[in-house]
Amino acid sequence: GSRILLENVTKRYGSATPAVGDLTMEIPAGKIVMLVGPSGCGKTTTLKMINRLIEPTSGTISLGDQDVTDIDGDQLRRRIGYVIQAGGLFPHMTIAANIAIVPKLLKWDAERIRARVDELLDLVSLDPDTYRDRYPRELSGGQQQRVGVARALAADPPVLLMDEPFGAVDPITRQRLQDELLLIQEEVGKTIVIVTHDFDEAVKLGDWIVIMREGGQIVQYDTPERILAEP
Ligand code: ADP
Ligand code: ADP
Repeated sequence: GSRILLENVTKRYGSATPAVGDLTMEIPAGKIVMLVGPSGCGKTTTLKMINRLIEPTSGTISLGDQDVTDIDGDQLRRRIGYVIQAGGLFPHMTIAANIAIVPKLLKWDAERIRARVDELLDLVSLDPDTYRDRYPRELSGGQQQRVGVARALAADPPVLLMDEPFGAVDPITRQRLQDELLLIQEEVGKTIVIVTHDFDEAVKLGDWIVIMREGGQIVQYDTPERILAEP
């Protein structure tokens, strides 16, 4: 993966107080960085700006040595896998079609796509024969979220941005997915940013934990070990 660098990034939605104010943060290449903090502190906004779904009011964001505004949309979708809060699946598309969005963009042949979809459904503990042709509304919230994770991983992007990826997932499956993610990480070293409300998850998965407060301010950016060692 590539390192992600935010420099003096501000996002105002209109109100006087910015959602994210003058945030400078480096996400090191090949590491997992966990963003934790109260609801409304700017975590989702930060992920969406990295992904260029939201344009910062000011400041710059770079991926590797490129400004994200210089990377074209298709290229960006290949490089960054994004797990939207609550799955964010397209309701009119089957589970297989949702997962295949980026592979199709990359013009993989049908057989390769089908094999990859089945492999990913297995990875997130959904039986391929049962689920590939269903529609999102036929799945529970937790199952939809798992499909969202599968979709983000589909074309093996070097960067993953995950917004509460396991929030609605049952505890046993969550633990399995967390373990899978750590295995993938051990093998390939992606650059991963995960938003979570779950401090135990932050400690388990994170190489680094960023504790944020309102306005996208960083309270602390440290290793889990050092954060746990605080009195
Ligand atoms: P978090 O992910 O930490 O819960 P968000 O990034 O979603 O925080 O939101 C940060 C702040 O920006 C909140 O005060 C939220 O109400 C506001 N906000 C988020 N999205 C919008 C939007 N589309 N329009 C106006 N305000 C927004
Ligand atoms: P979870 O514990 O993950 O929230 P649910 O209790 O919502 O699961 O769902 C249990 C089972 O019922 C799942 O296998 C899911 O596929 C199925 N299911 C849930 N909602 C629907 C629906 N609207 N149509 C068809 N099957 C559904």
